[in-house]
Amino acid sequence: MRMKSLKWRMVTIYVLLVLIVMIACGTMIVTQISSNAYREIENSLKKSISTSMEAIGESSTKEEAITKWENAIKEYRDSERKLFLLDTNGKVIYADKIVRETYLTPMVMAAIDDKTMKEFDKVYEKNKDDDKEYLGYARPIKVNDEVVAVIYMLAPSWQVKVNLYSTIKIIILAIFFAIILSIAFGFMFSNFLTKPIIALSNKARDMSEGDLDNPMEVLSDDEIGELTKNFNIMAKELNHNITEISSEKNKLETVFAHMTDGILVFDTEGLLIHSNPATRKLIGLTNKNTFLEIFGDYLDTTYDRLLTHIKGGIRQHIIRIKEKYVNLCFAPYLDQNENIMGSICVIQDITKHKKLEEMQKEFVANVSHELRTPLTTIKSYAETLINGALDDREITVDFLNVINHESDRMTALVQDLLELSRLDNKQTKFRMQSINLSHIVEGSINKFQIHAKKKHQTMVYNSTENDYKIIGDANRIEQVIKNIISNAVKYSNEGDSITINVFEESDYVVVMIEDTGMGIPNEDLTRIFDRFYRVDKARSRAMGGTGLGLAIAKEIMDYHGGHINVTSEIGVGTCFYLYFPYEG
Ligand code: ADP
Repeated sequence: MRMKSLKWRMVTIYVLLVLIVMIACGTMIVTQISSNAYREIENSLKKSISTSMEAIGESSTKEEAITKWENAIKEYRDSERKLFLLDTNGKVIYADKIVRETYLTPMVMAAIDDKTMKEFDKVYEKNKDDDKEYLGYARPIKVNDEVVAVIYMLAPSWQVKVNLYSTIKIIILAIFFAIILSIAFGFMFSNFLTKPIIALSNKARDMSEGDLDNPMEVLSDDEIGELTKNFNIMAKELNHNITEISSEKNKLETVFAHMTDGILVFDTEGLLIHSNPATRKLIGLTNKNTFLEIFGDYLDTTYDRLLTHIKGGIRQHIIRIKEKYVNLCFAPYLDQNENIMGSICVIQDITKHKKLEEMQKEFVANVSHELRTPLTTIKSYAETLINGALDDREITVDFLNVINHESDRMTALVQDLLELSRLDNKQTKFRMQSINLSHIVEGSINKFQIHAKKKHQTMVYNSTENDYKIIGDANRIEQVIKNIISNAVKYSNEGDSITINVFEESDYVVVMIEDTGMGIPNEDLTRIFDRFYRVDKARSRAMGGTGLGLAIAKEIMDYHGGHINVTSEIGVGTCFYLYFPYEG
C-alpha cells in the first residue's frame, strides 16, 4: 500500500490527534496531582508548626524559649517528620534525629531575617537506598521581637514523586492503548471514507478504457452519494457525446472512402496523415509519405511556401500524371485558435473534361480546315474566271464544274455537321416503327450496284430469311447501311468483292457488310468512328468523304439501342457488323 495514500494520511492524522490530546491531558493531570500533593504537605507543615508555636507561647528570655522548644521537640514523636531547633546561624541546637549540623536553606535564612517565603525548601537527605526528598518549613522564634532561634521542620515528600511516577506509567500505558485503538478506528474510519473514492477512481479508469455503459451503484445519501450520482450523469453524457462523435466520424470516413475525389491530409511538416482509396487510384501512393515525395515532381513549390499561400485561401493546381489530368485543390485546416494545423488536398480527375476541351478545339480546327480547302479552290477558280478565263468556254465549263463540285462537298460537310449537331442536341426526330430490315438492305444494295459495277466489283447479298423485323426509323437505318456500303465500294479496289449478309444472333439482327478492300490498320480501328477521323485523308477527300459518315452512323445505331462493330486486316479486307435489337 502506498504510504502517501489518503487512508494512511487519515490514520496518521487520527493517531497524532489522539497522541496530542492524550499527552496534553496526561501532563495536566500529572502537574495537578503533584502540585496538590505538595500543597497538602506544605499546609500540614504550616499547621503543625503554628500549633506548636501557639502551645509554647511567648517567652521572656532566649534561654527560656530554647528550653521550651527543646522540650517540645523531645515530646514530638513522628517517625517520618524531623524537627530541628536552629540558632541564628542555621546550626542545629537541638533535634529529635541528628542528621546534619547546619541547615542554611533559603527558608531558614529568611526566617533568621524574620521574613516569610512562599517557596518551601526542598531538602535531600542522604539515605542508604537513595536520595530522599523532604519539604522544609522554617519559622523564627522571637523574644521581644528579636529572632533568637529558628524552628525547622522537614516532612517527607518523596512519596509524591513515587505516586507521580506510577500515575505517569498508567498514563503512558493509556496513551499506548489509545494509539492502538486510534489506529484501528482510524483504519475503519478511513476505509469507510476512502472506499467510495477508490470505487470512483476505479470506475474513472474503466471509463478511460472505454467502459461507459455500466453506471455505479449509489450507496449513500451523503456528499459521496451525490458525487457518485453526478459521476454517473457525467459518464452518460460522455457516452452520448462519444457515440455522436464516432457516428459523425464513421459518416465522414464512409464519405471519404466512397467519394470519387481523392483526399490527402498533411500535417504542418508536410507528412501525410490521411488518404482515401480514391487517391490511390488517381495518383498512386506506393511508399510515398510526404508532400515532397508525392508532389515534388509536379509542383514547383515547397510545402512551407504552400502553407503560407493557403493562409490567404484555397490554392489550385492542374497537373498531369501519366495519361491523367488532375486538379489539386489545397486548403488549410485550423485548430480552435485559428492556427494552421496542416493542409487538405482534394484531387479531382479532370481528364474527361480536358479531353473534351481538346476534342472541341480539335473539332473547330477540323471544321475550319475542311471548309477552307474547298473555299480556297472555289475562290482561286472564280478569280481565274474573273481575270479572263471566262472567254474560253471550255475552261469556263471545267472551272464551273470544279466550283460546283467543291460547293457540293461543302454542302455535304455542312449537312453532315448539322445532322451531327442535331443528333448531339437530341433534336433529330426519329419516326420509330416496325420495319423490314431485309427490304432496306436489299434497296440499299440495289442503289450501289451501279457504283460497284463501275469499279468492276461484285456485290453479293446472302440472307437465310427475307423478313427480319425491327423497330426503327427506316430512312435513318437506310442512311447507315448506305454509308457502310458506300465506304466498302470507296475503299476497295477494282475487282474486289463486297458481301452483304443479314442474320440473327442472340437478341439481335446483324447486317454484315464485308469487303476485300484495302483494310484498316489495327491502331486506327477504334478511332474511325471519331469525327473527322480518316485513315487516308487524301483518298477520303478525293472520294468526296467528309470523315463524319461513321460518326453519324454510330449515333444513329446508339439511338436504336444497337451498336456497330468492325474487324479488318490491312490488304485483306474490312467487315462491318450492324447490330439491331430483334423485334421478332
Ligand atoms: P469518310 O467520309 O472519309 O468515308 P467515314 O466516317 O465514313 O468518313 O469513314 C472514316 C474512315 O474510315 C474513312 O476515311 C476510311 O479511312 C475508313 N474506312 C471506312 N470504311 C472503310 C472500309 N470499308 N475499308 C477501309 N477503310 C474504311
